[in-house]
Amino acid sequence: MNILVLGAGQLARMMSLSATHLDLHVLAYDVGSKQVINPVTFNVEPFSLEQAIERSHAITAEFEHIPHDILSLCSQSGKFYPGAQAIAIGGDRSLEKSLLDKAKVACAPYQLITQKSHFLSAIERLGMPMVVKTCQAGYDGKGQWRVKSKDDIEQIWSEMAEFLESGTDVLPHTIIAEQMIPFDREVSIIGVRDKNGQCKTYSLTENQHTDGVLTLSIAGKAKPAIEQQAQDAFNALANELNYVGVLAIEFFDVKGKLLVNEIAPRVHNSGHWTQQGCHVSQFENHMRAVAGLPLGSTALLRPTAMINVLGQTSIPNEVLSICDTTTHWYSKAAKPGRKMGHINVSANDLSQLGSRLEKLTHFLCERDYPGVASTAQSLK
Ligand code: ATP
Ligand code: MG
Ligand code: MG
Repeated sequence: MNILVLGAGQLARMMSLSATHLDLHVLAYDVGSKQVINPVTFNVEPFSLEQAIERSHAITAEFEHIPHDILSLCSQSGKFYPGAQAIAIGGDRSLEKSLLDKAKVACAPYQLITQKSHFLSAIERLGMPMVVKTCQAGYDGKGQWRVKSKDDIEQIWSEMAEFLESGTDVLPHTIIAEQMIPFDREVSIIGVRDKNGQCKTYSLTENQHTDGVLTLSIAGKAKPAIEQQAQDAFNALANELNYVGVLAIEFFDVKGKLLVNEIAPRVHNSGHWTQQGCHVSQFENHMRAVAGLPLGSTALLRPTAMINVLGQTSIPNEVLSICDTTTHWYSKAAKPGRKMGHINVSANDLSQLGSRLEKLTHFLCERDYPGVASTAQSLK
């Protein structure tokens, strides 16, 4: 069976690797170069997008900022999962907030902005510091501003106005202001829904971000009451969208109450630990769901941590000598801060996981891998 993934980065690559033993064949469409490629070898395949759609049994996506003409082409084929609506919602924060309101899932208080008076009234209503985000672009914390005091208003508004003016009639640009949430921690849930509507969720994941980029995730720490809230939100949103595939939801945990930060209609960086912490990873379950195969177990086998490798092209080989530690490289050209690979570490319990993370700090410096040492300390 052939599967086409829109986008040709590491997520397509890991979907392909996970699908091989199911005898599913994955090709990726690189939206930038307009080429169909093998996402593992990067070989260019002799197909146009139309031909790749034609020969595929299912089509999916690894990112949400996909041009509308490509989305509608895939939709027309009747083989596109989770479908154009879900991808469009993931790629537009204003649509995302409407979905959350419709499904009655709590998120940070927000206000849509298309002109300066909205910006000023948002500051009045939501207070400062306030987070401002572009609705139609942005990932890894890009396309965001923090309004901390009145002195920031003019400079930030001029940058916001530039984004608003760069929209077109076909794709108008909008901006959203959010109350700055004083969260205790950030968590996410990764779940999968099949074509019959069956939902399964992975263990709640605790995430640490540095400068807006995910640096470390841990699964196996969640309290049942919080995990239940995340599962309820997953079921409500996945069912509302009649979703097929893996869906990720990021939350702020504010004194035990979860508020949604954002959703991602795809496999997600905070679910990479499932490659080692579960029998069936998020990548394989996404492939199973879109191919119409039965879903695999999402149960947590052992506490597992994932550490992102950002901008680095190598790490000391000794890392591989730490028990139950694996590395996953994406074969990408290095750029400062770019996601180059990740490390998964599992253990029998949280304290052993702490010891293994501490061993990791002997080989990785704190500046490039923030949070590993403090997490190790807190688990031991
Ligand atoms: P991703 O790569 O996860 O898609 P993104 O660019 O879509 O990132 P967000 O997840 O919206 O960005 O924000 C990045 C980080 O900024 C969050 O993980 C959180 O740490 C912080 N943040 C965002 N919104 C808020 C908010 N309303 N209150 C407090 N912190 C926030
Ligand atoms: Mg995002
Ligand atoms: Mg995010």
